[in-house]
Amino acid sequence: MAEEISINDLGRHASSTETAVRSSVERVLRSGWYILGKDGEAFEQDFAQYCGTNHCIGVANGTDAIELGLRALGIGAGSRVATVANAGLYTTTALMALGAEPVFVDVDHGTKLMDLAHLERIVSEGGLDAVVVTHLFGLLHDMEAVLEITARAGVPAFEDCAQSHGARRGGRRAGSFGTAASFSFYPTKNLGALGDGGAVVTDDPQVAQRVRRLRQYGWDSKYHASLRGGRNSRLDEIQAAILRAKLPLLDGWNGRRRDIATRYSREIIHPRVQCPPVYGEEFVSHLYVVVCDDREALRAHLAASSILTDVHYPVPDYRQPALADLGDRAGLPVTDDLAASILTLPCYPELSNEEVTRVISCITTW
Ligand SMILES: *Cc1c(COP(=O)(O)O)cnc(C)c1O
Repeated sequence: MAEEISINDLGRHASSTETAVRSSVERVLRSGWYILGKDGEAFEQDFAQYCGTNHCIGVANGTDAIELGLRALGIGAGSRVATVANAGLYTTTALMALGAEPVFVDVDHGTKLMDLAHLERIVSEGGLDAVVVTHLFGLLHDMEAVLEITARAGVPAFEDCAQSHGARRGGRRAGSFGTAASFSFYPTKNLGALGDGGAVVTDDPQVAQRVRRLRQYGWDSKYHASLRGGRNSRLDEIQAAILRAKLPLLDGWNGRRRDIATRYSREIIHPRVQCPPVYGEEFVSHLYVVVCDDREALRAHLAASSILTDVHYPVPDYRQPALADLGDRAGLPVTDDLAASILTLPCYPELSNEEVTRVISCITTW
């Protein structure tokens, strides 16, 4: 049997960063300060600068980043927020926690991102309070076009950048376009911690201040709460120190991810497998997703050669049993179609050229 190629390999990733991570963890250990300290502040500064925003606020995870970021924009019970249904339920989970209502927008079959023509139709019906744009699989949406629509509607655009750290369009990074944006540092993300982590970035000082309060019980100073809706959602010092050490390596990892994606898109030639086009800096290839009319057969063929795949994501948000009471079960045609035909191939910086070649030849000989 050939050596297994897994869908991701965090062990390889950990060994490539072990020295830097070890010294960061030891420094925090010796500091005697573990929550909201110097490393957290330094990472917030570094990451804001990296994204090209004025503020970054570390929080406990990416879903909290969406929730607290939206709450800071005034989203709450009864708000109506446009979002896609193909992005793994994270934004919808945050909306449920806020008591807000998701208004699902279909996606474009090519980019798998929010269909802006459909968004325009929803916006024209009125009654929307915000739009969450998810840069899914690492592809930065056409934010100029998004902002034109949201500006006309007078609602804020919020970017979910959990899969798009570092993606760039016209020199601007993911997270610097919307009124505010969220990131996740879950271990598998393009920039990942060794545990949970997340952040909100924004240029708006008021939004930043509100997120800072919301992440810690609504406090404006110790034991004095001025803002309702507060939570405990903090990025701890060990994770912040690890992220600080890894941030300078992010662009290199993204470049390697993009190179692998480019090879797949150029070299996988099969009449039944649709690959994404070759993208530039706007794509950081968090996940490399192909479309196939017989996904299960292709998946089994790859598995027979010890190449593991996954589906991101198999169930549209509006078809999750947990949301059965949300009403409208009619579904969205492209979202439903893609959920049945997408397949994620292994694509991570530590994948070797030989492994990439094996994946390509396994598919082309299918
Ligand atoms: C991972 C992810 C999140 C949530 O991140 P967590 O840190 O796991 O809460 C949100 N949105 C998208 C698109 C994600 O991929």
